[in-house]
Amino acid sequence: MNLKQEILLIEDERNICNFIMTTLRTQDYKVTFAGTAASGLSLAASGCPDLILLDLGLPDMDGLDVIRNIREWSNLPIIVISARTQEQEKVDALDAGADDYITKPFGTSELMARIRTALRRSALNNMSAFAENRYEAANLIIDYEKHIVTVDGKIIHFTQIEYKILTFLARNAGKVITYDTLITHVWGPFADSNNRILRVNMANIRRKMEKNPADPQYIFTEIGIGYRMIDNENL
Ligand code: CA
Repeated sequence: MNLKQEILLIEDERNICNFIMTTLRTQDYKVTFAGTAASGLSLAASGCPDLILLDLGLPDMDGLDVIRNIREWSNLPIIVISARTQEQEKVDALDAGADDYITKPFGTSELMARIRTALRRSALNNMSAFAENRYEAANLIIDYEKHIVTVDGKIIHFTQIEYKILTFLARNAGKVITYDTLITHVWGPFADSNNRILRVNMANIRRKMEKNPADPQYIFTEIGIGYRMIDNENL
């Protein structure tokens, strides 16, 4: 089975859209298209693009904010397209989380080379994430493949939401994860969710896995910021 890789193009200029879409389809990529930042963000969240081509000059939102929004919940490669050539703008886009930058006007071969590079890097990152199929710290084991969590060898049952919260924190063990990042990852970028629902879920997670939920040893609260999971000892 050879699935086509999907590219989401967010660009408001019709001529450039047509050029890029024709080029990509000729190269056997699947292309979806959005003419505004809002529809682009919605497609990025609802579809599963392998890569995003993003025009920085969109009618409804600054392209940098689009990058920041996507980076709150996804690592998928983003290549920025812009007519503007200022160095600072490239830096800003990369700082915001873009993977690469291409300046209009550009040729087909340059565009294809950038896309291939970004997709290859992304595939390598995903492979190393998969290779790490287990989290282990202080008698807590999470088997990502089997979806099994044990504490002191005893299986703990979590709801789907609880498991998503727990594994996101575990995959980022040792790092402070903000409430917003966590909410966006678990409920999606446009979810009508809030800190209160997250806190309720966290209370349930701790009740199930912590010996003393008031004095947690696995997931710590960084007051006013978010949560931090104890470091994975196997890394
Ligand atoms: Ca534009």
